[in-house]
Amino acid sequence: MDVLFSNTLRSVLYSQSHGPLVSQAKRLNTFSMPMHATQILDIFCALALSTLCMNFGVIVLFDNLIRLSRSCPNCGADEQNIVFEPWKHEDSPTMLYGAASGVKGTQTLVTCKACSLMYENPCYSSEVITKAYANSFDAGHDSQYEMRALSFRRSLTKLLPHLPSPGATVLDIGTAGGAFLTAAEELGFKAEGIEPSRNLAESGKKRGLKIHNGTLEGCASEIGTFDIVCLWDVIEHLYDPGKCIEVARQLINPGGVLLINFPDIGTVPAKLFGKHFWWILSVHLQHFNQATITDFCNRRGFEPYHFSKYYQVLEFGYLEEMAAHLGLPLASTIHKCTPNFMKKWHIPYYASQTTMIARLSV
Ligand SMILES: [Zn+2]
Repeated sequence: MDVLFSNTLRSVLYSQSHGPLVSQAKRLNTFSMPMHATQILDIFCALALSTLCMNFGVIVLFDNLIRLSRSCPNCGADEQNIVFEPWKHEDSPTMLYGAASGVKGTQTLVTCKACSLMYENPCYSSEVITKAYANSFDAGHDSQYEMRALSFRRSLTKLLPHLPSPGATVLDIGTAGGAFLTAAEELGFKAEGIEPSRNLAESGKKRGLKIHNGTLEGCASEIGTFDIVCLWDVIEHLYDPGKCIEVARQLINPGGVLLINFPDIGTVPAKLFGKHFWWILSVHLQHFNQATITDFCNRRGFEPYHFSKYYQVLEFGYLEEMAAHLGLPLASTIHKCTPNFMKKWHIPYYASQTTMIARLSV
């Protein structure tokens, strides 16, 4: 009886949490309602629901599936302008964060009035997102392991003049199946990685790579210090990127560097495609350009000194699948008609990603 009642009540509470009160808070927020007011409403909702649960004497397995207002993840300011509204409804964290590619059109994106960073607001909590990543396994991502290692090897070779010499120690945060570690080891670096996905971490370990399963914050006390700390296509996924970089800073040896590769919202394609820019995905919680990533680093004790375009190599068939997944016209039809030998072709491409290297500020 309790279970039945609990489930019923849960449904009511769930629908209520997505109903008038929270919607009202979001709607008011679009008219420059002070952020703390919406947060008070969110807290009021949570307290009201908790009180209701306790009064009925039941345990409600409430998953906190509510997108909450958040301050700017770069500067902490609350004033913002809405840039893009969502055009698709999707609430499942498994769908939103279960694969590297994510879903398009589900976010409200704003720009901070103080520092110009574009970020998702409201947004699921760090706990909900981290849990979804921990349980995810993107088989397509890992199938391109060899191609990713080739991309990293080419990119690292070009970046060598700007990095500590081979022999240096490297930490790769969010290493997935370890493709970057393989490339770094081949070029003479001593590399290890951190990966929150259990399955991807296991894939990397089976390749003989040194990978810690977890988050940087969770692993920081177990690992040493490094000459290079890398985040390849990771910073935009983090709920609190500033905290990650502050922890990473403690792990960098004197004279060491921070390398961040990110989808660049400041490029011409990003401006042309607007909300349809291919990197605007549910998994990307903030979008940097060269100015905002510089500001982000400066605030946290780093001084960027190198920017370059990042070219990747992937198999033609995989690129076709990604294009079809993102809904590009005719992509699915073309993929079905492509002969198998063509699907194995190596395709170098530039997709508006930028690599930044920063040194520790004096
Ligand atoms: Zn800001």
